[in-house]
Formats: sequence, C-alpha cells, structure tokens
Amino acid sequence: MKVDYLIAGCGLSGALLSRELIKAGCSVLVFDARAGNAASRVAGGIINPVTGKRLVRTWMIEELLPFAINCYKELEDELKINLIKDCSILDFYATQDQRNLFIEKAFLEKDFLKSDTDAESWEPYFRFYYGAGEILPCPLIDIRALLNEWQQQLTELNCFVEEQIDPALCKVNADKVLYKNIEAAKIIWCEGAEAEINPWFSMLPWSKDKGEAIIASIPGLPRNYIYKQYLAIVPWQCDDLFWIGATHDWKYTDLNPSRAFMENVKMQLDLWLKLPYTIIDHIVGRRPANLERKPFVGLHPLYPSVGILNGMGGKGVSMAPFFASEFTKHLTQGKPLRPDVDVKRFSRILSR
Ligand SMILES: Cc1cc2nc3c(=O)[nH]c(=O)nc-3n(C[C@H](O)[C@H](O)[C@H](O)COP(=O)(O)OP(=O)(O)OC[C@H]3O[C@@H](n4cnc5c(N)ncnc54)[C@H](O)[C@@H]3O)c2cc1C
Repeated sequence: MKVDYLIAGCGLSGALLSRELIKAGCSVLVFDARAGNAASRVAGGIINPVTGKRLVRTWMIEELLPFAINCYKELEDELKINLIKDCSILDFYATQDQRNLFIEKAFLEKDFLKSDTDAESWEPYFRFYYGAGEILPCPLIDIRALLNEWQQQLTELNCFVEEQIDPALCKVNADKVLYKNIEAAKIIWCEGAEAEINPWFSMLPWSKDKGEAIIASIPGLPRNYIYKQYLAIVPWQCDDLFWIGATHDWKYTDLNPSRAFMENVKMQLDLWLKLPYTIIDHIVGRRPANLERKPFVGLHPLYPSVGILNGMGGKGVSMAPFFASEFTKHLTQGKPLRPDVDVKRFSRILSR
C-alpha cells in the first residue's frame, strides 16, 4: 500500500493534521494505539485565554482562539455533531489578595477579564467570601466526541488502523518510509507524551506532566459556566456530569489515579460546593509537555521523510488546529514554519 503520509497517533494533533492533509488532497494512513491515558481522552477541553495564578495571557491567543473556533465549527458541520459549548470561567477568589490581583489584571486584559460579576446569584450553589471574576470567552470543546467521530470517518475512508506503530520496524530513506507493507512519502509522529522514547525525537526537551481529573455528577449545577477555585468544575459530556481537575505532577513515578488527589477533591468540594455530588470516575493522562512550552512542528533536520506535530502541553485544544494547518501548508506548499515552533530550532541536538 502506498500513501503520502503515515500518521502515528490520532489524538487531537494527529486527528487535525490528518484532516488538513486530506483537505489539501493528500492520501493518509493514520495509526492510533488508543492509549487510555492519552491526553486528548482526559482533557477538560477548555480554550482558556488567560491562565495560571498570575492570570497571564495565553501565548498567541489572539490568533489561536478565532482559528480554533472556526476549525471546530467546520468539524461540527462535517461530522454533524455538537462540539463547541460557549462558556466563561467564574473565578471565585479564594483570598482578598487574589481578588486584588484579578481587579488589577482586569484593567490590563479588558478583552478577557471582567472583575465585577454578579456573584450573589451563585450563593445557592457555592460558599465563597471574596466574590468572583469572569474569564471570557472560554469555549469548551468535546474532544472525545471529535476523536470518536473523526476516527469513524477515517475508518469509513479505509485510512485508520487501531494499532501502535513500532518505530523499530520503520525503515527510513531520504524520500520514503517503509513500514510493514506500507510505503509512505513521510511519517509524521503525533504520539503525545509517548514521544519521549521516539528514536528520532526523544532528544527534544520533553518534560513530564501527569494530570488527574474526577468525573462527578452534580445535579442542579448550571452547565453554561466553568467554575474555578483551586479546582475547575467543567461541564462534561451530558446530563449532570462535570469534569473536576486537574493536577500537574512533574515528578510522577506511575500513571495510577492517586488517593491524595481524590481526597483533595472531596475536601475542596465539601468546603466550596453547596450541592450534593457523586463521584463517577477518576481519570489520568500525560500532557505532552516540554520545557519551552511551545509546540514541536516540522521535519527532522537529518531525515526529511520523518516529521513531528507534538509538544502541545496543556494547551492542545487551542494550539492543535492552528499548527496542524500551518504544518500542512509547510508540507504541501512549502510555506515556512514560524522559527519558534519549527523543530529545526533543535537541529544541533537532533543531529547528534
Ligand atoms: C488532565 C488533563 C487536562 C487537560 N485539559 C486541557 C484543557 O482543558 N485544554 C487544553 O487545551 N488542553 C488540555 N490538556 C492538554 C491536551 O489534552 C493536550 O495538549 C492534547 O490533547 C495533546 O494531543 P496530542 O494528540 O498531541 O497527544 P495525545 O492526546 O497524547 O495523543 C497521542 C495519541 O497517539 C497514540 N500513540 C502513541 N504512540 C503511538 C504509536 N507508536 N503508534 C500509534 N499511535 C500512538 C496514543 O494512543 C494517543 O491516542 C489536558 C491534559 C490533561 C492530561
């Protein structure tokens, strides 16, 4: 079998790249190992324009946000499913200092922060003492539905294989890659956190980042907001389900759900939430994080038939649509990549 592109991994990066390449008229064959702890399968799905304790504007958000929304809207039409939920974050200040910081930042980030929300109307649902600010817009994307439907579509087009690609069996030449009975002009690795053991890209500055979340049923909690105070409570899938998370563990030794996180969530919810809740599930994933916090996009400096789209860290929902499109334009039209995402910025390390 002969294809233009063999894609290893069908999380958000591989799915969106395969869609862009197909749109550009290329043939693809996408393999996915369906790892249960793939980041895309456990992500909350939030596009958040301002993040962290210091309320810092997300890198390139002015460009990434409209691009991502347009892409997910197109996918809603193509796949005939709902993927986007218009949301904003209600950020319940945990301390007076946090309130002061939010008010200060709201002056600078007028497009994304509103400090004077009508917090009183949330008293039937939450215990809080310092009011709340609003971060907006924070669209919520149903990544699991997107992946399930897109993989189904690829299956119908005979271009999806539910199997892990073994890098040891890839024979790489300057102008093609051979894998089992497949000949591809290029292989593009989109394997998320698994890339830290990829023979061509393990030298990149990956960093570890395990994230845990709880799925809980909270009947009666309105589903048009994301609620935040230490934890985020995020509308999830359907009915009265919410995703509650998430942790960042940079020193983990296993990928098991931890008792410490479960206890912490229960303690926080008991202090904050006035409504009864039932815990349904405890999920864990690895973010494809890196020390630079910028994606890895492009072709290997020594092996032009081997490429990568990865390193989305905790922002894949906003970054993946834009960089899948940019990479496709690079591959099919020769458009240069931004130097700060082009994997060739690591040419020296990758050439060792
Ligand atoms: C708890 C948690 C919460 C998060 N919340 C958000 C959020 O709210 N907003 C946001 O923007 N981002 C969030 N993220 C980050 C986001 O999930 C990632 O940035 C994004 O999903 C990365 O997608 P990816 O396709 O690059 O990698 P992955 O989702 O890890 O996908 C990689 C895929 O490749 C497959 N694979 C691996 N090796 C092979 C191989 N050799 N052959 C074939 N297949 C292979 C895996 O099975 C997997 O399906 C969160 C992450 C976590 C862990």
